[in-house]
Amino acid sequence: MGARTTEMRRRLGISADDWGDWRWHMRNRLRTAEDLASWISVAPEEEEGIEAVAGRYDWFVTPYYASLMDPDDPSCPIRLQALPSAAEMTTAAGDDPDPVGDMSYRATNRVIHKYHDRVVLLVTSQCPVLCRFCTRKFHTTDYDGTYFEVGEAVGFDEDLEYIRAHPEIRDVLLTGGDPLTYSDSRLERIIAPLREIEHIEVIRIGSRYPVLLPQRITPELCAMLDRYQPIWLNTHFNHPTELTPDSRGACERLLRAGVPVGNQSVLLRGVNDETAVMTELVRALIQARVRPYYLYQCDNVEGVSHFQTTIESGRAIMRDLVGHTTGFAVPSYIVTTKAGKIPLSEDNILSEDESAVVLRSYTGEVVTIPVPGGRSAP
Ligand SMILES: *Cc1c(COP(=O)(O)O)cnc(C)c1O
Ligand code: SF4
Repeated sequence: MGARTTEMRRRLGISADDWGDWRWHMRNRLRTAEDLASWISVAPEEEEGIEAVAGRYDWFVTPYYASLMDPDDPSCPIRLQALPSAAEMTTAAGDDPDPVGDMSYRATNRVIHKYHDRVVLLVTSQCPVLCRFCTRKFHTTDYDGTYFEVGEAVGFDEDLEYIRAHPEIRDVLLTGGDPLTYSDSRLERIIAPLREIEHIEVIRIGSRYPVLLPQRITPELCAMLDRYQPIWLNTHFNHPTELTPDSRGACERLLRAGVPVGNQSVLLRGVNDETAVMTELVRALIQARVRPYYLYQCDNVEGVSHFQTTIESGRAIMRDLVGHTTGFAVPSYIVTTKAGKIPLSEDNILSEDESAVVLRSYTGEVVTIPVPGGRSAP
């Protein structure tokens, strides 16, 4: 536990037992400017943001993640990721609730079958914190278009049946929302039947709990996962500040249970779009034995595009990493499109101008994606 966390816990009279209990954090999430005010001095623009998004985008923050905020600096990377901004209500040209077209690849209520040999299984729309830049921001909004249009109460029978009936699927990625929001027993009721399917070689979990609420990674959860190996987990650290003793401990428990931990970051304007920050992040990750896997270009998701950087600035960061630091500390820089994920290498960029980039996908499909600002100064 960091020094500030301990101090805040004492000041707010939170017992060590409560602080260590993930369910306590879930029940006591900060949801109002008043809640926030006991942790940080809330800036006028943050109060405006909270008011501006009301009724459109929800927000809440675990006390754990709030304890990482710089109390006096509104440009703190934790605050920028977790607290609403009025910019979420502005829409840039080309913005879309689902620019990567996941909806059009849905095979069942919960299965997205976009790539031949692997699928996404949407477990829940619930998350410990609603990250402001979420690619699936429309999961966490009330307006039409949520994946769970028939409701989350519906079971997994139809989805598991689809996976059983498709022997080409060898890799299932549990995501959402964040699947670890489910209790261990509820998760096990999904993982156990998946493991019984002969053609499923690998089960993967995408979860930001190690970052947003590391207390969720209990020894019991790790022991349960270990019974269904091979299981891989990809988490989502975006800034070195997030690598705390608690979050490193969560990764350590997973690793000791034989679950390899990878990291998928998103390149976010003002949060991590600088070589120095990204270098510190990837170094801290490999010290925690977490392998940097992907660095995503921020998609032009409605309500998110104020976080977008230019592709050129992402490539500049990649040039500063490759060769300058440990090879396996360097993630692949990826943009997700309707035609799949595309590594942003020279080979795949056919042309680019002020407002759009033309790319070649792994199947040879040519896709154009809007990039506000496009290429910055050469
Ligand atoms: C990212 C993603 C996957 C997994 O892709 P990998 O490149 O194997 O990590 C699978 N399905 C969907 C829909 C995805 O978006
Ligand atoms: S935890 Fe993941 S899915 Fe949930 S809001 Fe954050 S980025 Fe989105």
